[in-house]
Amino acid sequence: LAKAQGKNRLVAYADGMAQAARRRAELQQDLALAVPEDQLVVHYQPTVRVADGRTTGFEALVRWNHPARGMVPPAEFIPLAEETGIITEIGRWVLRQSVAQGAAWSAATGTPLRMAVNLSPRQLLDDDVVADVEAALRDSGFPAGQLTLEVTEGVLVRDVDRAVARLEALRALGVRIAIDDFGTGFSGLSYLRNLPADIIKIDRSFVGDLPTGRSASTLISSIVELARTLGLEVIAEGVETEEQRRTLEELRCGSAQGYLFARPEPAHQAGAHLATGGIPAQPGPPAIERLQ
Ligand code: C2E
Ligand code: MG
Ligand code: MG
Ligand code: MG
Repeated sequence: LAKAQGKNRLVAYADGMAQAARRRAELQQDLALAVPEDQLVVHYQPTVRVADGRTTGFEALVRWNHPARGMVPPAEFIPLAEETGIITEIGRWVLRQSVAQGAAWSAATGTPLRMAVNLSPRQLLDDDVVADVEAALRDSGFPAGQLTLEVTEGVLVRDVDRAVARLEALRALGVRIAIDDFGTGFSGLSYLRNLPADIIKIDRSFVGDLPTGRSASTLISSIVELARTLGLEVIAEGVETEEQRRTLEELRCGSAQGYLFARPEPAHQAGAHLATGGIPAQPGPPAIERLQ
């Protein structure tokens, strides 16, 4: 009986694997239509100053509204898009959309808001990426100094010399580079010195361990200290509670993002946040004071 059960379980497992593989293959195929059929949408999550909760900018986070399957999260389809290379087309679309939105919000508020856009390894290594960014900035009128490009430590794995050269070329445009999900990669703190970066984003797994996690707060204060030495900014990801926010303030972390302040939202909702200055967890001065 045990043997039969074991076999059934194995069959069920194999079925599940086959189904998952089928879904991946289908999604991968359908991705070719995502841009041409206008199925992608960008959501925007504010980045705020830890001390007063004021919005300083946004991160663009893409979603795929699949005609049959509904919303597919980026964690599922970005890796598939990386495999086929269609990520470069998707990335170009997200970039153009985001800088146009950044330009519109900056104009509406009279405030130079920042916009952060994620770049996957394959996008960074694409030969056209610098020209694409330059063209997107020119066409939107969004200043290079207000654009941040986020990369993970993973970009360094494939071809470190090429990745570093690309980051330097992007920075030469005046764009900022952020190291995303910092602390989860292969590298120690010391390699940061050699990386052309302006911002460190502390991964939400560390932030989630606050305020009680001793090693998390030690690590965060080390990162903040190192960042200060190297002249980098620090943004904490995934801040969900007021206790976490207060601990980050004590650890002298300058900026944050997270559900405590706002979730990623479609442009019209994120924009309404800006208009009311409404950061629910942070009563006080409006996020953008000069908005009329
Ligand atoms: P990421 O760049 O590290 O983005 C942060 C993720 O954390 C987002 O997930 C965001 O919705 C989520 N998040 C924000 N605040 C909180 C919080 O307080 N708690 C929790 N639990 N989560 C929070 P999302 O939107 O599902 O994106 C996942 C990843 O997909 C991103 O991680 C990024 O690596 C990738 N991605 C998203 N959009 C793009 C894109 O346009 N291009 C590329 N290449 N990658 C993208
Ligand atoms: Mg990011
Ligand atoms: Mg991240
Ligand atoms: Mg991530």
